[in-house]
Amino acid sequence: MKILILGAGPCGLGAAHRLNELGHSTWRIIEKNSHVGGLSASFLDDAGFTWDMGGHVLFSHYDYFDRVVAAALGGEWHEHQRESWVRIFQRWVPYPFQNNVRYLPDAVLKECVEGLRDLSGIPADAANFREWMDAVFGRGIVKHFMEPYNRKVWGVPLESMDKGWISERVSMVDLNRISKNIAEQRDDLSWGPNNRFKFPKQGGTGAIFEGIARPLMARIDLKRKMVRVDLEQKEVLLADGERVGYDFLINSSPLDLFVRSSVFLPDVVRVAADDLVHNGGLMAGIGLAGKRIDPKCWMYFPESDSPFYRVTNFFNYAAANVPQGTNDEYFSLICETTFSPHSPRNSATIMAETVEGLIASGLLTERERERIVSKWLLEVPYSYPVPTLGRDRALGIIQPYLESRGVYSRGRFGAWKYEVGNMDHSFMQGVEVIDRILYGARENTVGRRE
Ligand SMILES: Cc1cc2nc3c(=O)[nH]c(=O)nc-3n(C[C@H](O)[C@H](O)[C@H](O)COP(=O)(O)OP(=O)(O)OC[C@H]3O[C@@H](n4cnc5c(N)ncnc54)[C@H](O)[C@@H]3O)c2cc1C
Repeated sequence: MKILILGAGPCGLGAAHRLNELGHSTWRIIEKNSHVGGLSASFLDDAGFTWDMGGHVLFSHYDYFDRVVAAALGGEWHEHQRESWVRIFQRWVPYPFQNNVRYLPDAVLKECVEGLRDLSGIPADAANFREWMDAVFGRGIVKHFMEPYNRKVWGVPLESMDKGWISERVSMVDLNRISKNIAEQRDDLSWGPNNRFKFPKQGGTGAIFEGIARPLMARIDLKRKMVRVDLEQKEVLLADGERVGYDFLINSSPLDLFVRSSVFLPDVVRVAADDLVHNGGLMAGIGLAGKRIDPKCWMYFPESDSPFYRVTNFFNYAAANVPQGTNDEYFSLICETTFSPHSPRNSATIMAETVEGLIASGLLTERERERIVSKWLLEVPYSYPVPTLGRDRALGIIQPYLESRGVYSRGRFGAWKYEVGNMDHSFMQGVEVIDRILYGARENTVGRRE
């Protein structure tokens, strides 16, 4: 049985790892890049700074994935306590924002608390993400944080988004807890699945997937791009003209592009793929000379004085993320900006806008501008698969059809499910689909709403 895997990101590597573990030998990965890791790869720039494609942190839901990561890194990782903050009204508010509104100016705090006392609607009845916010957070928190922040991240009208993906991804609200936090002047920081996370000591997040790929490299073809799939002949055409046959195909490339490159596909499936919405990201890494002591891990930016929605203090994750072997000290920031048809951005000017945004939001001083020693920019065309209202209907047409043809589309953009689109989920989608193909086992991750 020949199993062909498209993409050597976490999902493709999860499938390959499982096949190797089971002693299956007729499989192969086709990867268009010259490196493994996909969106979870890391890069070393000429000045000696390591960059992720947006700050990645590892917080796993799976013992299996934990064991694979531990073996891949050989124990060489740091464990960090999450510290994340929101920059708003020229001050820092601890995350989750809604639990820490006591940091806000008095009038805004009043608006937020009144909004919570006076919630409009019932979350279950909300027709979309925007209505759901009003029902859960109230008008003050929505106006000042939820609405502007989410608009910046997703780059689409929030009315076009579903609410079904939310549970683990957004901290819920408890008015009693918030009132207590205000009365006792207490910080409330512990929410979330990712309040502790691991990070490799060397090589950025990408080191995890390089380690996982190492024993598999003989079967991973780098710099080979799939350009067409013949679903009837069960054959993939590569850019260099090679044709590769398969019995089962695991696709982790973006599902809309995959559908467009497939031949012998009903129109209804093609049309459904047009309903899949995504955004892109501009990842700007700024490396600076100097010492910075700031324990924050990452920060959220809802306001319009900066293009980015999030900045990571990447120097805090591992000493090796900044240049080593000199007497000078360095620090580094990764700034993530969304682009989409609703929220266009210019990659030629984003670096300058990012530096201005860092100054406007108090993360850099004017004097530090001269201390910038590295600017690294990466344009990521597929960054977030947006959970729109039409997504599940489209997936309900596309996926069963592909599966009937021996094609399993999995991973962040293969399955197009943001709620199970992190590194651990994507890797496990690859593992689980192999158990399904070989043994008929149930796939737990791809069908889960979390
Ligand atoms: C800004 C940002 C921040 C993130 N932060 C986190 C985080 O903190 N924690 C976390 O767990 N996850 C995070 N993620 C998610 C993480 O990056 C993904 O879960 C993971 O990389 C998805 O793995 P994948 O294999 O499904 O897809 P990808 O990583 O997209 O890999 C797909 C692979 O397919 C290859 N490919 C595509 N088309 C073709 C073709 N035609 N022919 C051959 N090969 C092809 C690509 O080159 C790529 O290598 C973040 C993602 C982004 C964008």
